Amino acid sequence: MGSHVLWETKGLMGCSRTSSFMGGEENTPSAQRTLGFDWNEEYVEQIDKFSIEQLYKALRGDYQKVEWRRLTYNNVACPKWIFAFYLALQSRLLTNDRLATWGCVEDVHCVLCGTDGDSHNHIFFRSLFSSQVWQKVFCWQSIHGKARGWEEETTWVIAECKGKQARAEVYRMSLAATIYLIWQERNQQIFQKITRTLTSWKIRLFKRCI
Ligand SMILES: [Zn+2]
Repeated sequence: MGSHVLWETKGLMGCSRTSSFMGGEENTPSAQRTLGFDWNEEYVEQIDKFSIEQLYKALRGDYQKVEWRRLTYNNVACPKWIFAFYLALQSRLLTNDRLATWGCVEDVHCVLCGTDGDSHNHIFFRSLFSSQVWQKVFCWQSIHGKARGWEEETTWVIAECKGKQARAEVYRMSLAATIYLIWQERNQQIFQKITRTLTSWKIRLFKRCI
């Protein structure tokens, strides 16, 4: 089987990043290097040592790193907390304010406190319920002050809770846990009509974190 067969694999044709890689007027070594595609058939044939890592990086391309990446990458929380946190950091959870823009729901009020809109900023930090939860979390970790908005809190934690100190790691973990459990609480109230008391909720959070 000749090497050209590998490069004509149909599965790659649908990817815009590999379309010029596979043919067309941009398919010259100089053009591909200018575009960041450091790998083509001729180049691969010339190299002595193949590196999956370099190929992956070349196909992936270069993107600006987001500041909050260390909140999820260096987080010792369990994967489902981190996944919910990761989505929340990008405002990708399906809150009612997002669903309303697609015409899926009309009622956008917050089920946790019955006021304001069901948005990331409100659910996780501004609602009365979340404020009480954060008060407990801050008290537990000897942090003074009240919870502010989403932007302020993430900016603070990125600046203050980096590194591998135990205190920073515990706070990053508890942040992911709190975001997940607030989201879970909101969903249970909407879909299962279950409401937990703040005391039982606090025990649940601390038991999971410790
Ligand atoms: Zn609310």
